[in-house]
Amino acid sequence: MGKPFASSADLDAKPQTLEVLADGVYALTAEGDPNVGAIEGEDFLVCFEALATPAAARSWLAALREHTDKPVRYLVLSHYHAVRVLGASAFDADVVVAHENTRALVAERGQADWDSEYARMPRLFADPASIPGLTWPTLTFSDRLTIDLGGDRGDLVLQYCGRGHTEGDIVAWLPQRRVLFAGDLVEAEAALYTGDAFHHDWATTTLDRVAAFGAEALVGGRGAVARGRAACDAAVAQTRGFLDTLRTEVGAVYRRGGTRKEAFAAAHAALAPGYGHWPIFEHCLPFDVARLWEEYEGVERPTVWTAERDRRVWAELQD
Ligand SMILES: [Zn+2]
Repeated sequence: MGKPFASSADLDAKPQTLEVLADGVYALTAEGDPNVGAIEGEDFLVCFEALATPAAARSWLAALREHTDKPVRYLVLSHYHAVRVLGASAFDADVVVAHENTRALVAERGQADWDSEYARMPRLFADPASIPGLTWPTLTFSDRLTIDLGGDRGDLVLQYCGRGHTEGDIVAWLPQRRVLFAGDLVEAEAALYTGDAFHHDWATTTLDRVAAFGAEALVGGRGAVARGRAACDAAVAQTRGFLDTLRTEVGAVYRRGGTRKEAFAAAHAALAPGYGHWPIFEHCLPFDVARLWEEYEGVERPTVWTAERDRRVWAELQD
């Protein structure tokens, strides 16, 4: 008997914590489950990430509504992954914003990703029947989009930093408060999912651009909020360290003509001492190694994950 598939056996609800990072700036973290955020404008809200279902999003919105009753004008989606976007309808947002590549990825692989993520992480899909369909961004951009928050609240800057966790990740930067919502480009003490990633870009130029904001509070895709420059730098460094170790180990096996299974074993042995106790480590690693392996083979864009391919790769590497 091998390990239970992905996070299919992880069924205990995680306690959620709503933190006020600054006046009108909120983050909800949940011990390694996907994080979400919200930023108040003068007379509207910007929400960051939508969780996996409208039912899941509504419990976050209920917590947020204890602090503000402003309407949601913008829902910002950091990337296309199902557990980040399929709850969008609960927000009643005027505008759903994402990178232009994210819109293309929803069209290309949104349904396959929905099926894949539902089988991998069923617990996150509270009341899956509440999902009305795929989430389509209504406003996209290629490099940068600035939202004027009104009054003396300054701007919220949405920035593309290059290919990373996916082909279309964006971050949200609040310069006045030096708060960065980094999406899955940075994880704070949670394992990285890199199954749709561009490892080499992510570990180098993309993380350099993320670090260059000089954030003093950073909300990653999963894990606790990093507070203070040292903690923000550490979160970026941990993320880069995970990627660099993967690249070193998988690259070495690839170059000596080894197998993907050997690459998985090498990556697991190297990462487990530092990262093995973090949420979703065992879940992610087979998919991470499979994608990095194909990058070494010269496959430019990630092969689409389907529920069937997930099981095949799991059986080959993790069982
Ligand atoms: Zn993701």
